[in-house]
Amino acid sequence: MKLDHEEVWRLCLDFIQKAIDPMAFQTWFEPIVPLKLEQVVLTIQVPSLYFYEIIEEQYIDHLRAALRKYVGEQARLEYSVVMEKGRKPAAGDFSVNFPTANKTDLRNRAVSGTGGQDQKGIKNPFVIPGIKKLNVDPQLNSAYTFDNFVEGDCNRLARSASQAVAKNPGKTAFNPLFLYGGSGLGKTHLAQAIGIEVKTSFPEKTVLYVSTNKFMTQYMEAIRSNTMNDFLNFYQMIDVLIVDDIQELAGKVGTQNTFFHLFNHLQQSGKQLILTSDKAPADLQEMEERLLSRFKWGLPADIQAPDFETRMDILRHKIRKDGIKVSDEVIHYLASHINSNVRELEGALISLLFLSTVQKGEITLETAMSVVDKLVRRTVREVSVDYIQETVCQYYGLEIETLQSKTRKREIVQARQIAMYFSKNMTSSSLSAIGAKIGKKDHATVLHACKTISNLIETDRDFKMQIREIEAQLKS
Ligand code: ADP
Ligand code: MG
Repeated sequence: MKLDHEEVWRLCLDFIQKAIDPMAFQTWFEPIVPLKLEQVVLTIQVPSLYFYEIIEEQYIDHLRAALRKYVGEQARLEYSVVMEKGRKPAAGDFSVNFPTANKTDLRNRAVSGTGGQDQKGIKNPFVIPGIKKLNVDPQLNSAYTFDNFVEGDCNRLARSASQAVAKNPGKTAFNPLFLYGGSGLGKTHLAQAIGIEVKTSFPEKTVLYVSTNKFMTQYMEAIRSNTMNDFLNFYQMIDVLIVDDIQELAGKVGTQNTFFHLFNHLQQSGKQLILTSDKAPADLQEMEERLLSRFKWGLPADIQAPDFETRMDILRHKIRKDGIKVSDEVIHYLASHINSNVRELEGALISLLFLSTVQKGEITLETAMSVVDKLVRRTVREVSVDYIQETVCQYYGLEIETLQSKTRKREIVQARQIAMYFSKNMTSSSLSAIGAKIGKKDHATVLHACKTISNLIETDRDFKMQIREIEAQLKS
């Protein structure tokens, strides 16, 4: 007796359900509709291209096994993709993105579009009641404008790239625009400034700012409530998407995957993506290589800590804006004593302002000194890479020169790796900077060292004890 497409599909589903994670099954397989079975060709309808890509990439082996079992060795699969209304591209439109056919031996897979999905049905994960397509709340903070972003040597490149993007979203070489730099240096401010500017110059464009954490929460929620398609469709509507603190994606494989596909689609349809990160693309860990290589495509623009002049300028700008009176002496004092980041500079100014209101007086140098004193004392002393090298050498009775030499003797290699491991975990130096200091190695060597040491700590108890002892010395 010959089975029809629905019966075959049901059998395939039972087969696949036994083999994969229940959440994944619910997310990626339940929304599929079997359309027809002609001889050995089964056609299934998937809700969007994302589904097609995810299935091809992650589940094709299961699907193939199921099809062979229930349709036969010659089985073939065809996809039909539901298209958004008003966007019925020619078949060629799709092919750009397809994984090469030789990836699997289900040959002649064809994809066709079927119209009909109504955009009004799209749910917005930000849950704004009464949402219409172009009425997405961009989640922007109106204070973060370009005008309020003081320019200095430390941020000139990033600032002008951001302005270029804001003038011409999706049409510059900076797509994605990748802004990176230490905490409190203005990444969020700059990324938001682009959004504000775009909204002013192109009110019809849909802009959205989202933190990576929020994006991940929405993604998990979409999986939980089986609304992945709404989630993806929503993000596909955005013309300018700002994703803040992308380093948070590290190690989150599922979200990285979704993000990667979203990213592809946005980019291919001329949308603008703006990413911020506290690390350079090369120093991001536990990120899929294909994502990293995309990050490098655009222009990674770094923001450095502000120099003294810029710190003075930033303080003056904020003081003028707040309409308070502060003497140059005080500004000078603040700018020379707080040199870590702009957020602390602002924090000091806010404390000063507060003190001057309660004391109902002018802001004196003494007040400024007490504020700075508290701020600086609160910041924890950071150990340096040099100090770590010294401590590790002392512990193993080695000379620093030996540690930094080219020798490949096992004990020395290991001591070097330990120093790299601690430098990575206890300082804010980049992998490349650590490598350069410890034996002129590159960032990949440092990364490898960190993994090796972490593995050893987990598997070797004696070794773990040694690491604990060194750590205690470093922290004392
Ligand atoms: P990040 O996202 O890099 O951690 P933020 O963008 O949140 O840093 O910046 C921290 C604070 O410092 C914000 O209030 C921001 O407005 C301010 N800030 C940073 N850089 C500048 C600058 N160049 N000019 C004016 N304010 C700045
Ligand atoms: Mg930020």
